Amino acid sequence: MMIIGVLKCTEENLVAIVPKVVSKYTKGGFEILVERGAGEASHYTDDEYEEVGAKVAPRAEILAQSGILLTVTSIGLDELKLVKKGAMIVGKFNGRVESDLLTALKSADAHAFSLDLLPRSTIAQSMDVLSSLASLSGYKAVLLGADNFGGYFPMMTTSAGTIPPAKVLIIGAGVAGLQAIATAKRLGAVVEVFDVRSAVKEEVESLGAKFVEVEGAQESAAAGGYAIQQTEEYIEKQKTLIHQTAAKADVVITTANIPGRKAPLLIEERTVNAMKPGSVIIDMATASGGNVALSKDNATVEVNGVKIIGDTKLYNHMGSQSSFVYSNNIYNFLNFLLKEGIENIPYENEIVTNTLLKVEKEETVSA
Ligand code: NAD
Repeated sequence: MMIIGVLKCTEENLVAIVPKVVSKYTKGGFEILVERGAGEASHYTDDEYEEVGAKVAPRAEILAQSGILLTVTSIGLDELKLVKKGAMIVGKFNGRVESDLLTALKSADAHAFSLDLLPRSTIAQSMDVLSSLASLSGYKAVLLGADNFGGYFPMMTTSAGTIPPAKVLIIGAGVAGLQAIATAKRLGAVVEVFDVRSAVKEEVESLGAKFVEVEGAQESAAAGGYAIQQTEEYIEKQKTLIHQTAAKADVVITTANIPGRKAPLLIEERTVNAMKPGSVIIDMATASGGNVALSKDNATVEVNGVKIIGDTKLYNHMGSQSSFVYSNNIYNFLNFLLKEGIENIPYENEIVTNTLLKVEKEETVSA
């Protein structure tokens, strides 16, 4: 019987199979081994796993016995030697940024897949870990902003006067940004939005927010729905408009990313200085350099009464739900990979070619 092993991840509050998803695998004839304490950070106990038919085991046993090894980011370089020959390793290893782990995974005696490299296609949607997690993060960013902002979000009319609604500025209307817009609107804020992709204008407006257009954006159909680098002229124009809008905002949420590149710097120091004391910025791009001057990854800094919170992984605040969607994404991915059996993995399909970590041909020749 094929064993699927679930490793405990120490960097994030995520686990690759939650108890609810175990039976989907066992019904398919797999045996599930879960590392002791793997679900702890996301509030799933070892007992819950055992109740649904998984076996709780030590890490070394899981590494040695699993034909399919599931993780989040956590697998040590030295642990790769302990993995069963030819095993599949599935996680999200930040596949666009070179690292020692990525290099080791590419040349390991195993097939490693990084789900952050999935194509943004309709068929891959149910496997898309970036989307699932970004959606949760976008929601949390608004709550964090509302909590840290020293004010009230919806308009309130009382006999003692009317409090105007909070002004929220969202930069980047991708998956996280759209969820942030919807959440801020639900809380009653007035929301303004920037994005370089004109395609999102309609979505932004359908959520009841105002799309602030900057003329001259560069777009490319070849970018697979992602943003591309902008011209100097556009960047300057956009920074000026963002400066004017941010100065009036109570909460600013930035989510702008360009895959494989440093995040664009969109809020300059002069803009932070122009913001009102008591306002809040949530920079959700700090792991790739940040959209905000002065922001720091996994830290909060305060500048002239403006709080700047840097956090790219806000989904970690909702470990049990994040793990639930992550588990379903992984299940859908494996289901796709193994639908014709382990001997017939669709190696030509872009879902596999994008995610499989392997040494490129050129590198092999020059090595
Ligand atoms: P992302 O995290 O790479 O970027 C977030 C947003 O920032 C994007 O909307 C991007 O256009 C924007 N941005 C980048 N540079 C900017 C700048 N200089 N100024 C302002 N905004 C800037 O993107 P994402 O959220 O992962 O999604 C990107 C696209 O992919 C979206 O259209 C999304 O709907 C699509 N998508 C498709 C699928 C699918 O079909 N399977 C799944 C997920 C996302």
